[in-house]
Amino acid sequence: MKINLNKLKLAPYQQQDFHFEEHGDNQLLDSWGGQFLQPVRVEGTLEHNGKAINMHGKVRAVVELSCSRCLQPVTYTINTSFFAIIADENRQEEFSQAEEDVVFSFDGIADLTPLVQEVIISDIPISVICQEKCKGLCATCGKDLNTGTCGCREDNIDPRWEKLKQLT
Ligand SMILES: [Zn+2]
Ligand SMILES: [Zn+2]
Repeated sequence: MKINLNKLKLAPYQQQDFHFEEHGDNQLLDSWGGQFLQPVRVEGTLEHNGKAINMHGKVRAVVELSCSRCLQPVTYTINTSFFAIIADENRQEEFSQAEEDVVFSFDGIADLTPLVQEVIISDIPISVICQEKCKGLCATCGKDLNTGTCGCREDNIDPRWEKLKQLT
């Protein structure tokens, strides 16, 4: 997701829309055991504010994650907006204290991919569940308890008691 500012030649106080559609990198969703179900869509507006370029955008992605209790697939939609500044690499010092996200352009090329990945990751909750009432998996036999009960005892036997029982 690269914006070529040399080609764009945005004059001060001018605006320009942009739009990308690209396959997401599934590695990004590793910690959720997830994958992208659709290309990631990014669209927004660039605006030269006289000093740098302001970028308002929206990221939309549909991903499949694993329920953190029962491991069944859960579809999750990311639909979130972002704001960032695009500035030339030789102004890194000037923007080092900036409160906004800054994307530095190298040789006039601004790569939005790291920013978009950041937006996606920070939108996904740390643990996703398929439903509020998800019963999860049995800790003993691994059965999905949403599909029925298993024969395991509900109270987990403390292994120390198990030993004592063997002695008697
Ligand atoms: Zn679940
Ligand atoms: Zn069980």
